[in-house]
Amino acid sequence: MRSTECERAWFARWLGGRRASRRETDHEFTREFTREFVHSTPVSSPDPKPCRFAPRLVPVDDGVGAATPAAVRARTGAPGVADGEIQGPAQLIVAVDREELPRLDDLYARGLQNNVRDLRLVGEQEIREREPHCKGIKALDSPYTGIVDWAEVARSYGRDFVEMGGEIHMGFCVSGFRETAEGAAGGAEGMEYPITVTGKKGEEVRCRFVLTCGGLYSDRLSRLSGCSSEPRIVPFRGDYLVLKPNKTYLVKGNIYPVPDPRFPFLGVHFTPRMDGTIWLGPNAVLAFKREGYRLLDFSARDFLDAILFRGLQKLVLRNISKGMSEMYRSIFIGSQVKLLQRYIPEITLADVTRGPSGVRAQALDRDGNLVDDFVFDGGQGSLGSRVMHVRNAPSPAATSSLSIARMIADEVKQRFQL
Ligand SMILES: Cc1cc2nc3c(=O)[nH]c(=O)nc-3n(C[C@H](O)[C@H](O)[C@H](O)COP(=O)(O)OP(=O)(O)OC[C@H]3O[C@@H](n4cnc5c(N)ncnc54)[C@H](O)[C@@H]3O)c2cc1C
Repeated sequence: MRSTECERAWFARWLGGRRASRRETDHEFTREFTREFVHSTPVSSPDPKPCRFAPRLVPVDDGVGAATPAAVRARTGAPGVADGEIQGPAQLIVAVDREELPRLDDLYARGLQNNVRDLRLVGEQEIREREPHCKGIKALDSPYTGIVDWAEVARSYGRDFVEMGGEIHMGFCVSGFRETAEGAAGGAEGMEYPITVTGKKGEEVRCRFVLTCGGLYSDRLSRLSGCSSEPRIVPFRGDYLVLKPNKTYLVKGNIYPVPDPRFPFLGVHFTPRMDGTIWLGPNAVLAFKREGYRLLDFSARDFLDAILFRGLQKLVLRNISKGMSEMYRSIFIGSQVKLLQRYIPEITLADVTRGPSGVRAQALDRDGNLVDDFVFDGGQGSLGSRVMHVRNAPSPAATSSLSIARMIADEVKQRFQL
């Protein structure tokens, strides 16, 4: 779950790059996600790109089902559970309060617009039938939601990439981009591979074009290539609790809260895992380190980078009480349990233990707005015009990775005129 900076970094040679130095032969290709949850496609905008209502939910079913759990499993062969056809943990988005009902109805309407399969609203009695320990007044039932072994999905993507002629360089922590000195890129003859990507250990890869998907470091990668530093990435740590093994009977499937559009990533979730454990949470607290998975992890550079950014200052000022309560919940798990009890009243403090954490790469603009849309950008000039950065791929970008890949491929073709 934890990793040191760039320990898991990988650099995939693509778009006609050519190896210039040592090739890493490490075949480990695991981008670990803290969760294995694969959303079905309830909701958000009917437009494939914007995902303005609840970025936690899948942006779009692209019409061929590439954003469904079944598609991810069929495509990768990764072990998973559910998908409606077989028994397993589907998803209930549960309203426990009357004031949540309009948002739930809105979510349902968006799901229908996006052709989410078999999505329906259910009442109290059916909630009880599906989740006997869950208290709710109305819920959105999404039977085609499931869980999958995500490391296996990532490995499968890697295998496909290699089969198609790609090379994967593990442990290649990109530290710079430069135009090669051999000639002007884009000149009459041009150079076949005018961009050199350099790594921290001195490795180099020559490329025609560069596409980065840097997650928590997407803004820094952009800056390294001379492109914009905004939107800025601010790390938010999410801590999970884990239900004790003798209490896992309390949760049958994925139980989700109705998302609040102001804070779409907040709210407790009950997530069954492939190994049979149930994770509860996460919360969201400002992390003092980009890969700071523990409460006391600290990096002066990351900390200063975050707090000196006007966007974060504005966000904090506007949401100081919310931020403090998230911090409080991360220290005193009893208050986290109180939130869980809104959905499953039987859960007590004695039933949970502290679990793992994940760090969310939250993109922020300088006005302190959470960027909840995809952001692809590049720069000007002979270097910038050959680079495209995926600056923001909000959750659930894992689930919708096949659809997003298609979107990125289209963008790349258009941008680089391929
Ligand atoms: C707690 C948590 C739970 C989540 N749960 C879900 C879920 O259930 N379902 C879902 O669909 N999504 C989920 N997400 C969201 C999902 O993880 C992200 O949307 C997705 O990972 C974004 O993909 P990405 O490629 O932009 O970034 P990442 O997946 O973070 O990948 C970025 C990669 O770039 C590498 N990198 C960074 N800098 C460098 C460098 N300088 N050189 C080389 N490599 C570099 C990193 O090592 C990393 O491998 C969750 C996120 C969090 C934090």
